[in-house]
Amino acid sequence: MTIRFLTFATFFSFLAFIGPDNNRFPQDFFDEPVPRQPMLLSGTFGELRPDHFHTGIDIKGGIGVPIYAAGIGEVARISVNPDGYGNVLYLNHPNGFTTVYGHLNEFSPEIAAYVRAAQYAQESFVVDLTPPPGKFRVRKGEEIAKMGTTGHSFGPHLHFEIRETINDKPINPLLFGLRVVDNVAPQLYEIKLYTFNDKFGITSGKKTTLKTRTGEYRLAIGDTIKLTEAQVGVALKTYDHMDGSANQNGIYELQMKVDDQDHYRFRTEAVVFKETRFINAHLDYAERVSHGSYYHRCFLLPGNSLSMYEQVVNRGMINLEKGQTKKVSFAVSDVAGNIAKGTFWIKRVDEPTTQVASTPEPVYNYVLPYLQNNAIDNVDVQVDFPKGTFYEDCYFLYGASTPSNPAVFSRVHTLHNSRVPVHDFFTLGIRPTRLPDSLKNKAFVAGLGNSGRETNYGGVWKNGLLVAQTRMLGDYAIMIDTVPPRVVPERFLPDMSKSSGFGFVISDNFGTGGFTPDLQYRAEIDNHWVLMSYDEKRARIAYRFDDIIPPGDHHFKLAVWDAKGNRRIWEKDFKR
Ligand SMILES: [Zn+2]
Repeated sequence: MTIRFLTFATFFSFLAFIGPDNNRFPQDFFDEPVPRQPMLLSGTFGELRPDHFHTGIDIKGGIGVPIYAAGIGEVARISVNPDGYGNVLYLNHPNGFTTVYGHLNEFSPEIAAYVRAAQYAQESFVVDLTPPPGKFRVRKGEEIAKMGTTGHSFGPHLHFEIRETINDKPINPLLFGLRVVDNVAPQLYEIKLYTFNDKFGITSGKKTTLKTRTGEYRLAIGDTIKLTEAQVGVALKTYDHMDGSANQNGIYELQMKVDDQDHYRFRTEAVVFKETRFINAHLDYAERVSHGSYYHRCFLLPGNSLSMYEQVVNRGMINLEKGQTKKVSFAVSDVAGNIAKGTFWIKRVDEPTTQVASTPEPVYNYVLPYLQNNAIDNVDVQVDFPKGTFYEDCYFLYGASTPSNPAVFSRVHTLHNSRVPVHDFFTLGIRPTRLPDSLKNKAFVAGLGNSGRETNYGGVWKNGLLVAQTRMLGDYAIMIDTVPPRVVPERFLPDMSKSSGFGFVISDNFGTGGFTPDLQYRAEIDNHWVLMSYDEKRARIAYRFDDIIPPGDHHFKLAVWDAKGNRRIWEKDFKR
């Protein structure tokens, strides 16, 4: 590949005809990275996902579909991971943008050979490589990889991003003139209305379905919601749809007006990685955790520092005088400019109504102001919440109980409940009960989620407490792990002269959370490290034969170990 780069002069002359408004991003530089046109999307930029905003678009396709460089440039980074983006390529372009191609099935042959050499040199399946400048230059439209579903992906697609190279900030790729056919407007499904009081903040939330007959959305029943409170917040459940795809995708922009005045605007033009977890303040976290429902809040919790809002008046809250009626209207749009509109009215009345039911006052034993450091400490437990843990003052309920499970070696500490979001890691120290000294190095802080599987959050011993970090509220206790991982062979035969490879399903008795590493493994043939790929979502490691192993008798040995150092060895002879 001997492609010369665009010079910076070319770059700037190119910038010169980018307009100030709609064309803030180059419109002709990038082409679609997949051959099928128009692109069909199963995910859009800024879409609400668990604990993050989606930072790319998901382009539909099948395993092995060729992936093309979206523009002239060079490979800046190659990464292989059992989770996350799986096999991923980063291309730097001379116009100051980086494109990212995730979940790839395979890299182009030259890149694949480079990756494989690095994996053998580092004796690791997981690699994160930055090739020297000029090593892999690519033309626009050159095939760089094949589509796949590696990493955290549940079906073949290309995860495609465009980032500003200088600050690694993802920008909505659909703002770059890529072709998708989208004549379908977003849909508005439900609103949720929140009322507030002075003492506890949000006191209640009520959901109301929206319906459309004429193109404009209205309440399913009536047109006015009556309430007695002076302050109201609104959240909206809305998705975008496009031609030829049944997926519920994320919207581009959500605008709310009150009495026809701009009141709130949320836009998914860019996502800043260090802000992405503020999604748990943007959406209704309890709805997400309890029901898997995603509501855009159209008001800001006090600790929400997300930069995706514009024109927010009164933090998005709506104030009502007694007897006053206000008109609330939404306009929700996609990048193609299709708009869905909805309108309803809210009225403050004197008499209590049943329309917005008051919830009982919260039961709590600690008040944790969001603007300061907070701690809960007693003999058995020490919890330190740094400033910024909560998005609003938290009326916190702490409790402790005696465990019924004999595998638990402390009291069970209930840190409020898992429906309240926590922005960053906080420190949790637990004192053990009846834990023999000989098992101290097998102990860990366990999250006792309600899914039934306990999670290992690790921990170090400090002043008699086992101290770990987590960013989930809920039940915690000390447990021990002395059980090695399970290793189940697949297609491992005494004679593999006709086999292309073999694999194992590896699993452990505990999940991992916080900073605890997942299962580790090392595979050897005749005492030499060999590459086994790891697909974390399928719990499978796989080996493919190549020229390195000649015909004849060989010995295979696999070691798999968990975060507590419990190790399983599996070994057998085979003929090649
Ligand atoms: Zn994606």
